[in-house]
Amino acid sequence: MIKFVPEPHLLDSPRGRDWPRPPAPPSPARAASPAPAADVVIVGAGPAGLAVASALWHHGVPDVVVVDRTGRPCGRFFGRIDLLGQRVLRSPYEHHPGVEGFRDCELLDFARLHWGRLTPTERREIRMSQSGHRSVVPVDVFDAYCAHLVTTHHVGEKTWQATVREVTPGRDAVTVHTDRFSVAARHVVLCPGEERRPAPETWWGGGHPPRGVSFWDESVPPGARCQVVVGAGLTAAHLITGALEAGREVHWVVRETGERYQCADVNSTFFRPEGRKRFDGVGWAERLDLMGRFRRASIMFEFRPLLERAEAEGRLVVHRGEAVKEIAPAVGGSVVLRLESGRRVAGDHVVLALGTTPSIGAGLLPDDLVDARDGWPSLDERTLSYRREPRVSVVGAAAGMVLGPAARNIDGHRVATTRVAAAIAGQLRGAVTAPAEAVVGV
Ligand SMILES: Cc1cc2nc3c(=O)[nH]c(=O)nc-3n(C[C@H](O)[C@H](O)[C@H](O)COP(=O)(O)OP(=O)(O)OC[C@H]3O[C@@H](n4cnc5c(N)ncnc54)[C@H](O)[C@@H]3O)c2cc1C
Repeated sequence: MIKFVPEPHLLDSPRGRDWPRPPAPPSPARAASPAPAADVVIVGAGPAGLAVASALWHHGVPDVVVVDRTGRPCGRFFGRIDLLGQRVLRSPYEHHPGVEGFRDCELLDFARLHWGRLTPTERREIRMSQSGHRSVVPVDVFDAYCAHLVTTHHVGEKTWQATVREVTPGRDAVTVHTDRFSVAARHVVLCPGEERRPAPETWWGGGHPPRGVSFWDESVPPGARCQVVVGAGLTAAHLITGALEAGREVHWVVRETGERYQCADVNSTFFRPEGRKRFDGVGWAERLDLMGRFRRASIMFEFRPLLERAEAEGRLVVHRGEAVKEIAPAVGGSVVLRLESGRRVAGDHVVLALGTTPSIGAGLLPDDLVDARDGWPSLDERTLSYRREPRVSVVGAAAGMVLGPAARNIDGHRVATTRVAAAIAGQLRGAVTAPAEAVVGV
């Protein structure tokens, strides 16, 4: 049997090209904060929040305020990607932060319109997508496409930089309190994404990590010569290849006995209706089981030759089937990991890539309204609103127990957005103007 392993050069798309931007609409001098009331407040301007804001524009809901800590649509998404040196997306061209049911310029159309800016490899991936095969999307193209969505759907002028501290439902409105202002809204959509998963308390007794230890979403000091990476996912793979490119020796601690290579984040059936159907009509315990089995760390196939070659050459030492027991600083500025097997691994710097946990609204909404069970919020399956507060809904990873493991992905946001935006627009109808023209040009 011939085994096809995609080549690592697909990972090397250039980053930072200058893309033509559609002209931004003239905006009146902007106030320091948004108006104190709005039809809809969206918390989080990542790919999920951008999809919701774009969908509401198509539905003709203009009175929308988007609040994001970074102040920039998709700011955290691209910040994390660039910190890792990731230059292609894991998801294919079909997964775009688009809006179901409305004609729009999709990610593939956008890339084809900018054919002249693409490398021969990038053009070949477009042809792969056109002929129905799995394709690799440059981060550069996705970034420019998101900027296009922001401009054409008027999201930029609705986005405000602030950190949301609390969301308090009242009789007439739900108030979103930030560190800078408050907005009373008729509907709130929570799109806060995911936070990095913390390390177990027992590793160093809780609190801040010891010197020489950081998490995947923090910078690695340039002076490190020997780096330890803990984790089994794509983030770990990016950290390892980045460290190897910087000439470092790398130790990789993986709890499972072998690495898992696959194209997408989750089994591709979960991106399709038949996959989501596996979640419909089954009980909570079965859904938990499906999430446990399919929401697992894995690495894009393209990394395989790179990592195998580095291991064969001794630049990468893989500690398979090893769990971390303790991490402590050692003399001489190095850090030592004690593993469950009793073995020790030392390096100048340790990076923990332990995954992410969905932000489910806890800490923002009162706990009794989130009504969390096994770490998941209690949501209405049709509208993705909280069962105990129908004016607040979620799009993103928090919808996992309704939409399945792909809820955290760009394609999952599209499916969730369709339900949430239609429900909100339906409830606001009568008070809103006619739907905006549902075709957006480039
Ligand atoms: C490095 C990396 C690469 C990935 N690549 C892919 C990929 O190729 N394909 C794919 O489908 N998925 C990918 N994912 C999964 C990815 O997380 C999601 O697709 C996407 O980022 C999720 O979008 P989001 O809007 O839900 O979350 P985010 O992009 O995290 O956006 C959430 C936003 O909410 C803001 N926020 C959170 N809390 C608050 C608050 N209290 N107040 C104000 N603002 C707040 C944050 O600042 C952030 O900007 C990747 C994830 C990572 C980390």
